Amino acid sequence: MRRTRTLAGIGIAAVALLALTACNSGSPSNPGGGDESDGGDEALFEVATDVSLEGSPTFDAMTERDGVVIGVKEDQPGLGYLDVTTGERSGFDVDIARWIAASLGFSEDQIEFKPIASANREQSIVNGDIDYYVGTYSINDKRKELIDFAGPYFVTGQGLLVAADAEEADALEDFNGKTVCSATGSTPIQNIKANFPDIKTQEYDLYSACVEDLLSGKVDAVTTDQAILIGYAAQYPDEIKVTGGLFTEERYGVGLPKGDDALRSHVNELFTDGGETWQAIFDANLGSSGIEVEQPEVDAY
Ligand code: GLU
Repeated sequence: MRRTRTLAGIGIAAVALLALTACNSGSPSNPGGGDESDGGDEALFEVATDVSLEGSPTFDAMTERDGVVIGVKEDQPGLGYLDVTTGERSGFDVDIARWIAASLGFSEDQIEFKPIASANREQSIVNGDIDYYVGTYSINDKRKELIDFAGPYFVTGQGLLVAADAEEADALEDFNGKTVCSATGSTPIQNIKANFPDIKTQEYDLYSACVEDLLSGKVDAVTTDQAILIGYAAQYPDEIKVTGGLFTEERYGVGLPKGDDALRSHVNELFTDGGETWQAIFDANLGSSGIEVEQPEVDAY
């Protein structure tokens, strides 16, 4: 039987699940300033002025409506999270999304965030419901048939989340005959269905629903990108834990309307030239998570 080896050496180590401050990290970007409520975090980036982007229909639409519509996740602490009591959005992906908006001349009050589940991302971009998507979105060829990606801007890999008192696992095959939960339309659920026929699956739109099933003992594990799982483990450190290594390589890109090469080049250049800002956004959101990852090189295909 083939045993899936843990991918080593892609620069990530979930060393310790230190307190992840995603849920109360304030508003680290606060682009353009003007938030009086959080004690004046320094802006991580400036809102650009006098931006023009020749030949970008998406930018033209943003300019015409005087605002940006961005697809995000909102139940993934540390990456894309909405605090329903304060209304505040936080996370590495959310700040990357704000940074892109700022580079195009749009400030926080000109951004509309739309939560879009994994399975609905391509369609929402194709339909024009959003201008771009930033939310743990792995670049792959199948998705590229419908949309384009800028990036990658982050690299992680498929991992496992189990009950805190469960045995450590080091391979997906350890869950043969057991039930593993993931999100519909995601690369991890596709991997399990295609390559691990003896694993039973439970699917939901949202990973947070999988985590609830894990907490109540209805499933044996949750599988998705380890960076996502680390955020959940930090929310419930006594109940659940990340186990094993990384079983795939997931390179996150910004989902863009297909053929908008001007916008794709703009975002790729922002990432290429903006290493310091990338690092500041990483530090503000994931610096205490135990995730160690370098900014990946942009693939300007
Ligand atoms: N990165 C994987 C994907 O794009 C899993 C995370 C997610 O569903 O957003 O499918």
